[in-house]
Amino acid sequence: MSVDAGELRRAVRAGEVIPWYQPIVELATGTIQGVEALARWPRPDGMVPPDAFIPVAEADDLILELDLAVTRQALADLSRWQRLRPGFELNVNLSGRRLDSDAGVADLIAAVDAAGVTPGTVCAELTETARPVAADGGAAALDRLRAAGLPIWLDDFGAGHTSLQDVIRLPLDGIKFDRSFAGQLDLPRAEPLLGALTAAAHRIGLRVSLEGIETGAQAEAARRLGCDLGQGFLWSPPVPAQQVDGWLRASDG
Ligand code: C2E
Ligand code: MG
Ligand code: MG
Repeated sequence: MSVDAGELRRAVRAGEVIPWYQPIVELATGTIQGVEALARWPRPDGMVPPDAFIPVAEADDLILELDLAVTRQALADLSRWQRLRPGFELNVNLSGRRLDSDAGVADLIAAVDAAGVTPGTVCAELTETARPVAADGGAAALDRLRAAGLPIWLDDFGAGHTSLQDVIRLPLDGIKFDRSFAGQLDLPRAEPLLGALTAAAHRIGLRVSLEGIETGAQAEAARRLGCDLGQGFLWSPPVPAQQVDGWLRASDG
């Protein structure tokens, strides 16, 4: 599906790019502790997946507008969800490009403040696609976000451009192992390596999540590794907001 930058800009401004949500599950208890907002663009010719339009937006500052538009909609949903389930959490994806923009960081903090949600319940996932150009790798900007009450998670850790250097130098609250690892857990080296990395992350005060969990056996392996949180098709693919309302009402009654 080809994506034209001008058409994408129009769609973002018209509110046509919307968040869908995937549950984030506490592995020890199996409860849904929150959701990750994932951008979707419904068009007459079909649903455009983020892999088709996020790179187009990240080619310039359109990604800042897109992320903010998706985040604002997600915050409105979160404030409704927190009336059903106090403390319910929201993860939003944060392009590294925002960390290079003082105004972009301030916009995100202002959007979270304006939403009136419980402090500390909105986490930012630093995606690996566009890295900050700042010499500190975005550390100062991340400090500002954390000081404003947003925990920071490093997304897609272990694949692509994320590195141990990010974990050493960036102020983080957690790491999300890249979803490709979930399908490799039966390889002999995977469990010992990911288990050791998880233990090391815990030692330095980070929480750990594994994405891409599709089977019960993978969830069981994630628990054995010591991961705190899990996410994947085993529990649910990303779904529209109304479906999350349905889950929360069902677990409320
Ligand atoms: P991500 O943030 O790592 O999100 C997880 C991706 O894994 C999602 O793809 C999700 O649908 C997919 N996934 C979840 N569970 C499973 C599973 O069990 N198996 C498999 N095979 N895949 C699973 P999605 O929604 O296509 O998003 C792709 C990427 O696009 C995201 O990866 C994120 O980096 C980026 N993205 C999505 N929405 C936004 C956004 O609003 N802003 C920014 N900056 N990036 C976004
Ligand atoms: Mg993410
Ligand atoms: Mg990820």
